[in-house]
Amino acid sequence: MTTTHYRWTVLGAGPAGIATVGQLIDRGVPAGEIAWVDPEFAVGDFGTKWSVVSSNTRTSSFTRFLESTAAFDFDQAPDFAIRGIDPRDTCVLGAVAEPLHWITGRLTDRVSAHETRATKLELSERRWTVHTEQSVLTSDNVVLAIGADARTLSHPGLREIPLDVVVDAQKLATEGLEGATVAVFGASHSTMLALPNLLDQPVAKVVNFYQHPLRYAVEFEGWTLFDDTGLKGHAAAWARKNVDGRLPDRLQRCHVDDARFDELLGQSDHVVYTVGFEPRRVDAPQWGPLRHDPANGIIAPGLFGVGIAFPGHRVDPTGHAEHRVGLEKFMQQLDQCLPIWLRYGT
Ligand SMILES: Cc1cc2nc3c(=O)[nH]c(=O)nc-3n(C[C@H](O)[C@H](O)[C@H](O)COP(=O)(O)OP(=O)(O)OC[C@H]3O[C@@H](n4cnc5c(N)ncnc54)[C@H](O)[C@@H]3O)c2cc1C
Repeated sequence: MTTTHYRWTVLGAGPAGIATVGQLIDRGVPAGEIAWVDPEFAVGDFGTKWSVVSSNTRTSSFTRFLESTAAFDFDQAPDFAIRGIDPRDTCVLGAVAEPLHWITGRLTDRVSAHETRATKLELSERRWTVHTEQSVLTSDNVVLAIGADARTLSHPGLREIPLDVVVDAQKLATEGLEGATVAVFGASHSTMLALPNLLDQPVAKVVNFYQHPLRYAVEFEGWTLFDDTGLKGHAAAWARKNVDGRLPDRLQRCHVDDARFDELLGQSDHVVYTVGFEPRRVDAPQWGPLRHDPANGIIAPGLFGVGIAFPGHRVDPTGHAEHRVGLEKFMQQLDQCLPIWLRYGT
């Protein structure tokens, strides 16, 4: 195995990794001194799992992301469908993934792209060693933009329908759900995508187990209440009408502390978990679990995190605090953190 040294190594080529590579170049790091590691270079889970999902973000926010970074060369991009969508509307995430694929191609031509997965990180002699499935790299700095997996709970004996299947009506139609009773845990944006998709199938019943009242995002001048946890777009409209409005015939809801919980779960044969995301990790035996400071993205000297795995944090004008997840927020996180990272080396 050969070892090559870089100034910056970015792990992950989802939206957060794309933003990081672009911003490093914009801030003067020579492209030849950046290594970029991802097993697929297919815009991450955003491009591979969530393309058919209706966004919770207005199209204008995605356009701002695409136009934010000179190294993206978006002004030279082909006439992608996103340019024809009303900026005030939401859109399918595939319409955003399309230009991000194109940008990924432009960036991988400039930096040193390694189509593999990082397996281990070590710090010694003020250098990070990044072990991958194919080679070993060393780097002054490493950015983790490695995404997150859908969290699950443990209710044995039920057939689990994965989140990326339930949010995709075409994939869901192949699950053979005739007469099924499906338990759906959660009350999130993903829940409000899963429930209507399941009710479009010939299921006998869907039981939604929840812990909290629904939350809706509300826009004010210059800020949004529940911007990161509240329902938006089509999901909010569906929830207002069908959950906080009138429950469809085959949908039942049950609080997790309700006395009927065991009985209703016992009637279910399938289960869907829409209960958040678990950050992916890279093995770093020296450090144990890698945790970032959400205020600045620092994990260790020369080691930083961004994206859904290592989100930023914001307190709104009412004092309510949330983790910030979404493309434009990743870019804002980098705007705030990169000047610090550039001076917080090993
Ligand atoms: C249903 C749903 C709807 C959403 N809607 C919106 C929306 O409307 N607007 C919005 O802005 N956001 C939305 N998001 C949120 C968010 O933008 C996405 O979750 C996005 O995919 C997160 O980007 P990321 O780059 O952090 O991670 P990912 O897209 O998951 O990319 C991570 C990449 O890192 C790679 N990787 C993992 N481990 C390693 C390793 N060890 N070495 C190298 N590479 C590795 C992965 O293979 C992957 O390619 C939505 C999310 C979901 C689930």
